[in-house]
Amino acid sequence: MKRADAIARLGEEKIWEVVIIGGGATGIYAALDAASRGYRTLLLERGDFAGGTSSRSTKLIHGGVRYLRQAQLGLVRSSLHERTLLLRNAPSLVHSRNFVVPVYSLWEKIYYGAGLKGYDLLARGHQPESSRVLSREETLAALPTLQSDRLTGGVRYSDGQFDDTALILALAVAATGHGATVLNYAPVTALRKTNHRVTGVIVRDVETGTMHELRARVVINATGVFGDAVRRLDDAHVPSLLAPSQGAHIVLPRDFLPGDTALMIPKTSDGRLLFVIPWQGRVLLGTTDTAVSEISPEPVPFADEIDFLLEHAALYLQRAPTRADVLSVFAGLRPLVKTGTGPTSALSRDHVITVSPSGLVTIAGGKWTTARKMAEAVVTQAATAGDLLKLPCRTSGLAIAHPLPAAGDPVDDAFVTTVAKTTMARTVEDVLSRRSRLLYLDARAALAAAPLVAASLARVLGRDAAWQAAQLDTFRALVRQHLPAPSAPAETARGSS
Ligand SMILES: Cc1cc2nc3c(=O)[nH]c(=O)nc-3n(C[C@H](O)[C@H](O)[C@H](O)COP(=O)(O)OP(=O)(O)OC[C@H]3O[C@@H](n4cnc5c(N)ncnc54)[C@H](O)[C@@H]3O)c2cc1C
Repeated sequence: MKRADAIARLGEEKIWEVVIIGGGATGIYAALDAASRGYRTLLLERGDFAGGTSSRSTKLIHGGVRYLRQAQLGLVRSSLHERTLLLRNAPSLVHSRNFVVPVYSLWEKIYYGAGLKGYDLLARGHQPESSRVLSREETLAALPTLQSDRLTGGVRYSDGQFDDTALILALAVAATGHGATVLNYAPVTALRKTNHRVTGVIVRDVETGTMHELRARVVINATGVFGDAVRRLDDAHVPSLLAPSQGAHIVLPRDFLPGDTALMIPKTSDGRLLFVIPWQGRVLLGTTDTAVSEISPEPVPFADEIDFLLEHAALYLQRAPTRADVLSVFAGLRPLVKTGTGPTSALSRDHVITVSPSGLVTIAGGKWTTARKMAEAVVTQAATAGDLLKLPCRTSGLAIAHPLPAAGDPVDDAFVTTVAKTTMARTVEDVLSRRSRLLYLDARAALAAAPLVAASLARVLGRDAAWQAAQLDTFRALVRQHLPAPSAPAETARGSS
């Protein structure tokens, strides 16, 4: 996967069959789907692959226990099916993880025990491990740092866990292997139109400023929370489809949850649930659900979201975490589809596909877990919209291999050289946020590693000292956004909705 090769191919192809805008989970899976069916496929990403919501998830490949409570059984069943496929097709990238819900009364034991048996049943025999009611002693053995006052036991169930950016990069490499061209730092700035039909895109190469006009039989808009902005390149007056909502996470040292089992907090003060999960040698705690009106490419957790997460963790963990314990924070924006006026937490996580009168195909909503299925649906619809030969989807059986090196490997010159040459890492942020996850695991350690990364990358990419200095300035500003904002004054606190 080399950027120079991808740029060269832009000019070679007279008419692409499928052009996909957006290099998140939805777009990358669509590129793999379209290319593996046999379509001449191009994917264009404005920044880095997975630079948007898809690198900021809770890292769960799951049916969604919360959606079970909301009786969205169809969504839970299809998500569990997708989980089965991912565990089978990408075993080096997705693994199962046990979760325990602590219970404090017999009623809770029955309620969560029965609910999680229902989860097992919806998985239709593909649950990695059956759910089980645990005694108080078994619960504390699984979660040794859990507060034990009033605890009567727990319910254990299992789900899938992954590293979201590693899977995106693996999918991008796989898509390229099936003949797709994928290009980062390539924003689509306009749609090409002929007789009111979308017939291609205008794209800018960020590194050179060169504009390319490309022809396509069909264009898929898979830009997540930016979906409405791209729809407005087609029709400036189209009403918005999306209701974005922010979710924040904090990362803590491993000793807050030293075992292999994750803790699921079943009810927060805003009626949601929270996860405290072992992840890459640290503990990931999230998430919130806050409706937002501004869509930022780099969303920052609100101070009161951090307070909310710390306060809920303090109710369950023996040692209450404080801001001083936090290694990193991050936030993402859910591309939820508008369906009414209620809180964003009540909006469905299902997806929708629209085809505009000019033929632009937009996919919005959904979850990481269902990205393969969403891609299958959108490419099938795009084939009709673009009048392409009908070719069958092949992704349900496609094996996905881990890209090398792995996200947790030490960040040294060899690491930087490899990720620059094989996965199109172009900036210090690309390396420390999405090839290594160091910025997300420990923001201060990422800052310390940045000069080495800048120097190695400059050597591989042929950049000068001024480029290195600018990269370091940009990265330092980004690190500040990954450290927790000071506690919110009570009168300005923003409740999670
Ligand atoms: C806090 C949080 C936690 C979550 N946790 C989970 C979870 O544990 N499990 C799960 O299944 N799901 C989870 N989700 C949902 C999941 O992360 C999202 O549904 C999914 O990542 C959305 O992917 P996407 O490709 O649609 O959007 P994105 O990842 O945002 O990708 C869209 C891409 O389009 C690019 N783009 C925008 N405009 C242009 C343009 N003009 N030209 C070129 N490119 C452009 C953007 O740069 C971006 O990279 C979570 C979501 C959030 C917010």
